[in-house]
Amino acid sequence: MTGLDPENWDELRGLGHRMLDDMIDRLATQRAGPVWRPMPDAARAALRTGLPVEPTSPEVLYDRFSDLIAPYATGNTHPGFMGWVHGGGTAVGMLAELLAGGLNANCGGRDHAPIEVEREVIRWAADMLGFPQDCSGLLVTGSSMANMIAVITASRATPDGQALRRAGVGGRRLVGYAAATAHGCIARAFDLAGLGTDALRIIPVDERHRMDLSALRAAIRADRDSGAEPFIVIGTAGTVDTGAIDDLDGIAAIARQDGLWFHVDGAFGALAMLSPDLRPALRGLERADSVAFDFHKWAQVPYDAGCILVREPGRQAAAFAQSLAYLSREDRGLAGNAPWFCDLGPDLSRGFRALKVWMTLGAYGTARMGRMVEDCCAVARHLAERVAREPLLELLAPVTLNIVCFRVRLAGMDLDALNGELVKDLHESGVAAPSTTMVGGVKAIRAAIVNHRTVPGDVDRMVDEVLRLTRLRRGVI
Ligand SMILES: *Cc1c(COP(=O)(O)O)cnc(C)c1O
Repeated sequence: MTGLDPENWDELRGLGHRMLDDMIDRLATQRAGPVWRPMPDAARAALRTGLPVEPTSPEVLYDRFSDLIAPYATGNTHPGFMGWVHGGGTAVGMLAELLAGGLNANCGGRDHAPIEVEREVIRWAADMLGFPQDCSGLLVTGSSMANMIAVITASRATPDGQALRRAGVGGRRLVGYAAATAHGCIARAFDLAGLGTDALRIIPVDERHRMDLSALRAAIRADRDSGAEPFIVIGTAGTVDTGAIDDLDGIAAIARQDGLWFHVDGAFGALAMLSPDLRPALRGLERADSVAFDFHKWAQVPYDAGCILVREPGRQAAAFAQSLAYLSREDRGLAGNAPWFCDLGPDLSRGFRALKVWMTLGAYGTARMGRMVEDCCAVARHLAERVAREPLLELLAPVTLNIVCFRVRLAGMDLDALNGELVKDLHESGVAAPSTTMVGGVKAIRAAIVNHRTVPGDVDRMVDEVLRLTRLRRGVI
């Protein structure tokens, strides 16, 4: 035996075919099973085998996968999954992962076809969002990383931004702005960029959960007056709590007037650009200096696949390339083909994420993707209408896109506790898996319709189960 290749390729081929058949069966029939089930202690314990010093056959390992892992996955491929913001994935994307794993490409750089696939996917992303074709971009783990790259790129696009790279922030008081409804990863980006979370000014929102633009203007003025350096304003296209969309055009105008970098966190909402009906709600996104979004959420690409686009060519490399000499690669041979993706973000070694994006978008086309996004929004509206009809239920926020926040209202009960417990009951029922959030200071049951498999009947089943579980609790309490 040489190296780690199998002695018997046909045996491995047989196992591979079985895995493929099983996984396709699982995806095709999952609706009949529960969304999620708690992992039994015995299964958790069985996974703790200790460091494997001696070999185990792939067949045995696959049996363990089938018994201990697959039945206890998150459930976000299931149509009843409505929690957080999780994409459902597709079988085509799964197959692309197989192919990418087989090539085992390192997409940090060099002259090979997988780099050209990522470049093409970045041009597609620019087209989808109304960005220029010569913008720069990078596939990353997710929007958390993409937003961090944007904050760092923006800070290094300020006057003396290059000195910042050598000397650190020092005495400079760089400050940025985002609405109270911005995702937690924005504050984390300020933390990791070394700016400190206090440097992120939290702007209040209006009754539609959108950034209050007069408060934004006042905050920028107050910071300038106190000698701070405002450098970035971050709008959200699809907030994680309610799906609200900031007035991106209004923010763009303020950013332009004040000389600030305008970044949009469009983690899931940016996909609404593919729908002619929904696109107008995102007006202004095409004016952003940078945008972060995920292919693994509404675009249904298997985890993980986020994306950052930066409008002005050269800005991202100026923030991340380790030296300008680093950019001048060889003129031919495998070490050519500059610029390299490793100069556009923190990672040197990078997997072939682009293939699953390329195959997913290619297989469905953006027109169908846009209709799928509209269908999700229609399911959300169906749920909101159902909630409005149910005397025990109350809608807690306007439904802008695909997120519905509601709660059970029962007189004389601690509603936050009741709704929190109901969501746990619901998870354990296996019928549906929404999550919770706080809206206007109260606990909401939050259903985000991000899965292309979810149909109106699924949200009706969720509501039926919420009502059944409520009656059960009323009987018990
Ligand atoms: C999910 C989400 C993020 C974080 O994205 P990840 O891909 O999970 O890192 C950021 N912003 C918004 C609005 C999100 O919905």
